[in-house]
Amino acid sequence: MTDALGYAQEVRRLAEQKLGEAGHAACGDYRLDHEFGLVCVCGEILGHLEAQRPASNLPEPQAPKAVAPLDMPPNVINPDSNYTLADVERELLRYAARLESGTAYEVQMIAQREELRLKYELAFAEALVEASREGGAADVRKARALLSVRDLRLQLHQVESLCECTKAAMHNIRAAASHLQTVNSSLRTAYGLGGSNGPTPARRPY
Ligand SMILES: [Zn+2]
Repeated sequence: MTDALGYAQEVRRLAEQKLGEAGHAACGDYRLDHEFGLVCVCGEILGHLEAQRPASNLPEPQAPKAVAPLDMPPNVINPDSNYTLADVERELLRYAARLESGTAYEVQMIAQREELRLKYELAFAEALVEASREGGAADVRKARALLSVRDLRLQLHQVESLCECTKAAMHNIRAAASHLQTVNSSLRTAYGLGGSNGPTPARRPY
């Protein structure tokens, strides 16, 4: 599991250890520079840290399982509760999984709809030709043809509605994931993670 906060704490621990070993513990402060690595507040450059990234738990890539987004249990988040950065990151990963399986389902539904649409159109054309043989006014012939393929038309209507609902549900999941990303970046800012440490000095500041 990604835990940016745990990683940041590990970096902080290593930085303080390195400062201590180099005899800069009393200087009081430091910063991490992209180019120089650890820089003590006194201006001494101590070099890059060897922070261990957490071991990856990523599974082997596999085709996502199709799950109707409307069937996925929503996670109810209480805005008045306290959540950690790790909670939000876990939730973001959950949303990524929902998007993947939802997309797989959506693709299946679209393929089903198109197949049904073609079937219906062919059956309707056939019924129209059949109805023309019996004569009558044009609208009556059309009505007769439609009635003879009503089951297919109903089936098509159901799948079309399901496609629309799926599309709306997927849109909601994407929107919720985007809100979570905003919360995640606010938390990261609050914890003082990520981003730039300011401009890199051309020479030692002291
Ligand atoms: Zn120092």
